[in-house]
Amino acid sequence: MNKLYFLGRGSGYNTKEGNTSAYLKKNETLLLIDCGESVFKTIVEKNLIARVKYIHVLITHMHSDHVGSLASFIGFCYWKYKIVTNVYFYEKDKVRSFLELLGLIEDESFMIMDTKNRKIDSLDLEIFPSLTKHSKTINTYSYTLKFYEGNDIFYSGDTYETNFDVIPFLKLGNIIYHDTCLKDFKGNVHTSLRVLSEIIPKKYRKQVYCIHIDGENFVEKAEKQGFNVVNVI
Ligand SMILES: [Zn+2]
Ligand SMILES: [Zn+2]
Repeated sequence: MNKLYFLGRGSGYNTKEGNTSAYLKKNETLLLIDCGESVFKTIVEKNLIARVKYIHVLITHMHSDHVGSLASFIGFCYWKYKIVTNVYFYEKDKVRSFLELLGLIEDESFMIMDTKNRKIDSLDLEIFPSLTKHSKTINTYSYTLKFYEGNDIFYSGDTYETNFDVIPFLKLGNIIYHDTCLKDFKGNVHTSLRVLSEIIPKKYRKQVYCIHIDGENFVEKAEKQGFNVVNVI
């Protein structure tokens, strides 16, 4: 089974849990999903760049808990390891301006990649972004990681909807990482545990891992509903 590893699993203001960020490391290649405020520090502390030659970063959206330390991460990889980071975000101009405002130079320390059907052969996968619903002011993307050998992964980004047909996906044994929160109110920009429970039948819940969690007793409540919650390693 393909799975992601996590550097943090918290919602934007849940500082105890660290910003939600996932990675996959294989064949001297690091794939990182999001790089919020707390993430760069964690990466350095875990020495995650050791034995890595190629770096790919997927960005779900431009909220600070998802891109807050991206420039430091890119600068560090270039300065210390001479690695040029490949950054994937559907709105290329936006992420380019953001990184340039912070002093980085495109094609020196970073490259902006096209997210349309992008293959990363060293990880045996292909990336498929899809627009999802979250903030009124910025666009957010979910990512499906399709592995050449099957066992795909869907990563929701921050969202208040599940923007694809989940049941056939889960029926195939694939797994989902989904933004989930305890807060439940009209106008919520995240998916509450109640809403997720309405979408995912009980028999598939073990294939669904909650991320971007809020609240003191989130884990207990989510597990009681039959969902998994990611562990931070
Ligand atoms: Zn967030
Ligand atoms: Zn957000």
